[in-house]
Parts: sequence; C-alpha cells; structure tokens
Amino acid sequence: MQQQLDTMFGLNTPYSAARTVIFGAPFDSTTSFRPGTRFAPRTMRGEAYGLENYSPYQDADLSDTAVFDAGDLELPMGDSRLTLDMIERQTTEILTDGKFPLLIGGEHLVSLGAIRAAYKKYPNLRLIHFDAHTDLRDEYLGVTLSHASVIRRAWEFLGDGKIFQFGIRSGDRDEFIWAKNHTHLHKFDFVGLAETVANLGGYPVYFTVDLDVLDPAVFPGTGTPEAGGTDFMTLLNAIFTVIKNTNIVAMDMVELCPPCDHSGASTAVALKLLREAIIAIEM
Ligand code: MN
Ligand code: MN
Repeated sequence: MQQQLDTMFGLNTPYSAARTVIFGAPFDSTTSFRPGTRFAPRTMRGEAYGLENYSPYQDADLSDTAVFDAGDLELPMGDSRLTLDMIERQTTEILTDGKFPLLIGGEHLVSLGAIRAAYKKYPNLRLIHFDAHTDLRDEYLGVTLSHASVIRRAWEFLGDGKIFQFGIRSGDRDEFIWAKNHTHLHKFDFVGLAETVANLGGYPVYFTVDLDVLDPAVFPGTGTPEAGGTDFMTLLNAIFTVIKNTNIVAMDMVELCPPCDHSGASTAVALKLLREAIIAIEM
C-alpha cells in the first residue's frame, strides 16, 4: 500500500533533503475586485492530480526533483501586517537553510513578505516582475499594504533601477510616469527580457509572476483580468529565460482565483507553469 499524499503533485522529499520548498499563502484581504485567490494553493494541490509529472518541454520529470511541500501558512485574514511578517519568517527560514523558496499566492501582496526576506539575505537583490498591472500605486483607497502597491513597497527598500517589469498593460497615468524614473517598465510583452537577463550577470534575482499577465482568454481565473495579455507558450518561454539564465534565489506565483473560473482550466494552466518552473529551478 501507498501513503496518501495531499502535497502538490504528490511531491514527498523530506525537508532536510529538499532543494526547493513550496508553501502556500492563502490570503486575499486587499483584493480590489473579485476575491478568491485564498483558495488557489489548496485547489492547485487537488487539481494537480490531473497533470503528468513528465515535462516534454524539458525532457525531465518531477520525480527527478527534490521538493518539499510545506503546506499553507495559517494566516490571519484581514491583518496584512501580521500576514506579511509570517510569510517573511517562513521565507527566511527556508533561505537560511540554503533552500529555494517557491511561494504560491494568494493575492500579490503576499510577495512582499518573501521579497523582504530575500532582500535581507541579498541586499543587492534585483526583482523581475511579470504582471498585467504596474502595482506601483503609493496607496489604493488609502491602503498602503495593497496588492495594487506591492511593487511600490518593494521599491522602497530595493531602490531605483532594481525592478524589471514585463507584460504591463494597466495602471493609472501617474504610475507609468513614476515608473520612468524608478523602475524598468516594459509594456505589453517580453521584448527586452533576454537583454535584461544578460545584463543582470550574477546579481541575485527574486522572480514574481502575477498570472494575470496571461490573456484572460487563456487565464480567466483571476481577480482583475486584463485583455491583451500573453499566450501560454510565450509566458512559459519567458519563465524559462529568467529561471535558466539568472542567479534566481526565490520565486512566487500569485493571483490565481479558482472561483473566478468554474471550468477549472485556469488552475490547470497555473499548475503546468508551476510544474515547468519547479523542473527548471531544479535542473
Ligand atoms: Mn500584481
Ligand atoms: Mn495583476
């Protein structure tokens, strides 16, 4: 008989032997439009059953990896500050143990806790950000800890010129103007990504993927869908470009909202990207 495993893809490497550690941050308290990203990590674990472990893209298998699934943090919904502290602590522990943190959101605000932890270990950290949205608002409806402000909050400690944004096609005018002096913002697609990655050299990179960078035709299951996004293969190749060519030290995937897509297809899309990311990180 086999043990029943409710982990992501049934991954079962013990923590001590793992190179990569997955954990979920099921938090969606500051979501501005359609809530539900808190259900993403659990839904993904359930639906992962339907996906093959083998990647024809990389000719490698999840069984070749050493991944520990730490489950989901039990977060105090409604308290962003406490939530971010918990995510930061968890990420710090994983980094301190010499392992690679792979965070599953949740709304995009959760990334801030993990970015803070990575920055404390790597003060010369660079941030690569895929998203439909700038996420550069100083505040949203008076709230400074918001998923619409997450990259702005990260800028406050990372500083000018350290953030590289791709796929961006939504935000207010002031955000785009502000970005000109503070981040490297690439509108609409991944043009310039290969150059960016080449120029980063050995700098440690935190990679945050807001899945709404995908077109809503591919990925309707998200809280704030934005038309005109990327297709699946383009995003997959862009993810490979970052993971395989930078000194990546941590990563997250956020903003899957399972209740926003009752077909379940968006969850399957997220899972395939996650499988490919895991294998690329580990190979
Ligand atoms: Mn975002
Ligand atoms: Mn977004």
